[in-house]
Amino acid sequence: MCGIFGVFNVEYAERYAFYGIYALQHRGQESVGIACSDFEEVKAIKKPGLVLESIKKEELDAISGYLAVAHVRYSTAGDSGGINSQPIVRETSFGKTAVVHNGNLVNYLPLRSELEKKGVKFMHTSDTELFLVLLDEGEILPEGIDLHPLDRELLPRIFYTLSRVKGAYSLLYLFKDRIVAIRDPMGFRPMLMGRMRDAILFASESCAFDILQAELWREVRPGEVIVVDRQGIRTYMPFKSERKAMCIFELVYFSKPESFVFDNWVYKARKRMGELLAYEDDTVADLVVPVPDSGLVPAIGYSQVKGLPLELGLIRNHYVGRSFIEPTQELRDVKVLMKLNPNRAVLEGKRVIVIDDSLVRGTTSKKIVSMLRRAGAKEVHMRIASPPVVGPCFYGIDTPTRNELIANRMNLEDIKNFIGADSLMYLPIESLHSVVESPQDFCDACFSNNYPLEVEGTALRMR
Ligand code: SF4
Repeated sequence: MCGIFGVFNVEYAERYAFYGIYALQHRGQESVGIACSDFEEVKAIKKPGLVLESIKKEELDAISGYLAVAHVRYSTAGDSGGINSQPIVRETSFGKTAVVHNGNLVNYLPLRSELEKKGVKFMHTSDTELFLVLLDEGEILPEGIDLHPLDRELLPRIFYTLSRVKGAYSLLYLFKDRIVAIRDPMGFRPMLMGRMRDAILFASESCAFDILQAELWREVRPGEVIVVDRQGIRTYMPFKSERKAMCIFELVYFSKPESFVFDNWVYKARKRMGELLAYEDDTVADLVVPVPDSGLVPAIGYSQVKGLPLELGLIRNHYVGRSFIEPTQELRDVKVLMKLNPNRAVLEGKRVIVIDDSLVRGTTSKKIVSMLRRAGAKEVHMRIASPPVVGPCFYGIDTPTRNELIANRMNLEDIKNFIGADSLMYLPIESLHSVVESPQDFCDACFSNNYPLEVEGTALRMR
């Protein structure tokens, strides 16, 4: 999971990129980077850590310009060290070029080894570098594409690059005088386009436009290539795919509730998941407690359908920084308690429906159930606003290995016993599908094991 942001045609573009990528901090906390051009030269900064804490004003001043791209990283592909932080910058035949990427390529390993055999030197171990390396490896013009004279040099190189890579990519190239925005033909990861006076913006989620008081314009379409330069905006559809595979987990968990992605308001979709869960459930209880923050919106939907009070039975501590790996179980448990605290005032003697967005390993749910019981809850009924997670993701989300997924190892009854709940219920996959207009255009592989794209070799850690 990563966040990307781009802005073209505004003075102090690096600062707009800084605030835009800050609004996407939830998509990655490992590192942040901004590349900016003043129409003469591309300059970049990359730092480990959070946006606000890592980047200094002087560092922004040093790269100041009119067009910029930015990235927050949650490592999925390649090692998690600084070398793979983005933007990745490389000298290409178009000068110094930067790229930011959200997604994961499924044919990285065979493609890289093919290129290495030809003598190409790689500086990174992340798949993103391929988007720069391949620019100098060939050119094609797909049938039916009529190029604007200004795009005749660059675009055939980009089309060649896209013809070689397979997988999930929402991508922004920054050249010294233009930005090129691209979304893979299956549209795995979101990317939207915004407007702000004369400036054009791109972002993984619309919440990045809100912070800049920019207007959400439209989604970048799956398979679309958009060039933005001083002469205007030009758009191409070089490779179409019959099958779309937008990540349904974006609606369940990854995107912020106030964002608009994949033609859906995330809040509405998430609230609907809670409503549908409630329709399926005849458990008698006193109150509904969300697991903050991601369980909150489905819990609102659930409580409204049931007519049950929604209470903050778990309070989130917002000041949790980095924590280290503790040597004993007792100390490891403290880490969960650092993040969440039970609220005895509302829990004592109550039959509680506790709602979370998803259940992956089961270890956090187990701690939450025991926390609620210790704080006096009489019954704890765990409700999950998505189906059981049964498979890992190969398309840009850092999920645990198949063996670590509890639903892969245990049946419903065993999971309920493992987490210590009085009952456990998931949202059926059919209900999840019913939340979106065209479920066939979504990927749900981690819930169904129905993978829309074969994996030939990725830079992901072993699954
Ligand atoms: S496997 Fe799951 S997380 Fe990955 S793209 Fe598909 S729906 Fe999203």
